[in-house]
Amino acid sequence: MSAFPQSWKSTVSHWQATNRGRDALWSHGSSEPLPGIVVDYAIIGAGIAGSSLAYQLTRPGAAGEGKTVVCLEAKDLASGATGRNGGHVAPASFGMFPTLTTPLSAGGSGLTNDEALAVLENELDTLNYAQEIIEKEGLAVDFWKGHKLEAKVSREGVESARRAHKAYTTARANSEKFRGTDSAWEFLDDPDVSQKLSRIPSALAINRGPAGSCHPHKLATELMKLALSSTSSNFSFYSWCPVKSITRDDAEATWSLDCHGRGIVRAKVVILCTNAHTRHLFSEDERTTGIARHITPFRGHAALITPTLPYTGRRTISHSYALEAGPYLMTTPSSGIVMGVYNATALSAGIARKKDIFEAIDDSIVLPSFEKWLSEYCEKAFGGWREEAHGEGLTRVWTGIMAGSRDHLPLIGSVPNKEGLYAAVAFHGHGMARILTCTRALALQLLHGPSYWDERLPRSFEITEKRLQRARQEAPEIITKEEMEQVELVEAMGKSTLNGGLRADVVPTSV
Ligand SMILES: Cc1cc2nc3c(=O)[nH]c(=O)nc-3n(C[C@H](O)[C@H](O)[C@H](O)COP(=O)(O)OP(=O)(O)OC[C@H]3O[C@@H](n4cnc5c(N)ncnc54)[C@H](O)[C@@H]3O)c2cc1C
Repeated sequence: MSAFPQSWKSTVSHWQATNRGRDALWSHGSSEPLPGIVVDYAIIGAGIAGSSLAYQLTRPGAAGEGKTVVCLEAKDLASGATGRNGGHVAPASFGMFPTLTTPLSAGGSGLTNDEALAVLENELDTLNYAQEIIEKEGLAVDFWKGHKLEAKVSREGVESARRAHKAYTTARANSEKFRGTDSAWEFLDDPDVSQKLSRIPSALAINRGPAGSCHPHKLATELMKLALSSTSSNFSFYSWCPVKSITRDDAEATWSLDCHGRGIVRAKVVILCTNAHTRHLFSEDERTTGIARHITPFRGHAALITPTLPYTGRRTISHSYALEAGPYLMTTPSSGIVMGVYNATALSAGIARKKDIFEAIDDSIVLPSFEKWLSEYCEKAFGGWREEAHGEGLTRVWTGIMAGSRDHLPLIGSVPNKEGLYAAVAFHGHGMARILTCTRALALQLLHGPSYWDERLPRSFEITEKRLQRARQEAPEIITKEEMEQVELVEAMGKSTLNGGLRADVVPTSV
């Protein structure tokens, strides 16, 4: 169970390391007294979900207009998955379509073709909406928009992409809603084209479509700053304010939030933006039935790679990537490549057992097997990468905790049978491509009432009793009891010697 305060010192990501200036909201409100009045809205969690919801609620005309809104964060802003991710704001391609339409009992989302298409369109909408907010507000968050290459390197991978592309294009052609509209995705079923485009000699085919990237820690910070400077709402942000429990007082129609030693916050409406750490806010009984049961925390690894000269300057990689049996990666404006490891890759490459990933909640450690794999990947995969000089290649590695969703879909909106309780959680490791439109929709629901639904957001994201029950009964466990009994590789191999995520041989520990 992931609860706060945590006993460990988390690894430090590239994003957290490069947004440490005075304006970056570290420790913001950590020594301020908590409000003594009943607040209108209390957001728990300040990742990209909490900070973007704070932004939405504090716009003129939004639910928070003329109201008191607070955000309570257990640690620092973006100290969770948001500040430790791969920086990719990348819509899923048609490659995801079969998973979305596979029955729940077979490990998919069990959606109709039309709803699966709506889920994929939502990710494109989120990318466009991210660009809209960033440009409208003039946010300096290193935003990039271009193309993602999903490179296939095996015959099975190509075959499965062909099948997915066919299923997707057929579904679009048969869909009343999407028929006749242009698909953003192309399937480049040609090894020569794929190799030239990707600079990966083993590439056989590519799914190419729109993608973006940004500095996620800066984005969360800038959105929180806009909320703090709102003139239409009375907004405050309290970091280092872990919420131990939430209790409903029906007579008063309020929630009491126990913030450990910092006191109690009373709120009319509470919104959980706690993602992987949502379970402990529910009772033991609810953990076996409700939204807590739907969520499985899991640990991801990511790294900063300093490219070699053939991949520097004008020859910098100009796309982002999602590589079969490999990582996903994007290029920062000047610091190099940020690369994350897919769970499937880690399991098939033998660098993790399921237990090292699922239900793993400690982000203070880096598994040496991941570190080695990440340090070797570029030289093996990219043509002409060349031998790395001291200081090139793997520079920093970190971990972060995400929230797996039983049906792969986020949980958004009013929580069933809990008056005044809402949630935006369970982004299944893909929050940057989903959250901004989810919190836009949630802010509208808070304005118009719990039965309101923003039709731009897929209906399958709504939290209903029926959905939770179906997933509980039909979907396989993300990790079984037997798998939980395995010895973790981390136990078998010991912890990495990394100092705070930074490779000691690249930057001396005394720095
Ligand atoms: C290694 C890694 C790579 C990733 N790469 C990508 C990527 O490239 N693209 C992509 O789309 N997604 C990626 N993700 C996933 C993405 O980061 C998440 O989906 C997204 O950041 C979730 O945002 P969030 O705000 O819901 O959760 P978080 O950022 O985890 O925020 C939740 C916050 O709630 C706080 N909190 C929890 N419980 C309490 C409590 N009781 N009291 C007070 N505060 C509390 C936590 O401290 C935390 O700050 C990656 C994640 C990781 C870890």
